[in-house]
Amino acid sequence: MSEKKIHIKIITPEKIVYEDDVDSVIAQGVKGSFGILPNHIPFMSALDIDTAKVIKNGEEITFSIMGGAFQFKGNDAIILTEAAERGNDIDTARAKLAKERAEAQLSSAKTQRDIKIANAAIARAMARLKAASKN
Ligand code: ATP
Repeated sequence: MSEKKIHIKIITPEKIVYEDDVDSVIAQGVKGSFGILPNHIPFMSALDIDTAKVIKNGEEITFSIMGGAFQFKGNDAIILTEAAERGNDIDTARAKLAKERAEAQLSSAKTQRDIKIANAAIARAMARLKAASKN
């Protein structure tokens, strides 16, 4: 009898960033972190700009996830997000520069909209640096 796994897909508008059969998924929802094991009941959550982790045969793979949605049903998991990168594919120098640029934009922001845009860019860069540090 084959062991139960979760079939996960991490999908962006451009591509399928990751697809595999894994043992568990841990992601950061807008209401907090959650973990999914095979045979979990159907579940959906909006995702934060943060990281998601899959565990496969004891190996952990961390991704940066730029918000979006998580859906789980019948041992199929889907993360739909604007952008996602596997930790070891992340260009940390680029993320550090993006963070510095966004911090400068935040300090000279004049409108609520400018503040929101700068904070979102900081969150994206921090999610990338966090994912890169876990690989
Ligand atoms: P930057 O200002 O460096 O472009 P950004 O947050 O504006 O960062 P996004 O708009 O979220 O970038 O992403 C644009 C594309 O670039 C996406 O395909 C994303 O996967 C990729 N990307 C962004 N930053 C990085 C990075 N540090 N390493 C690898 N890929 C990245």
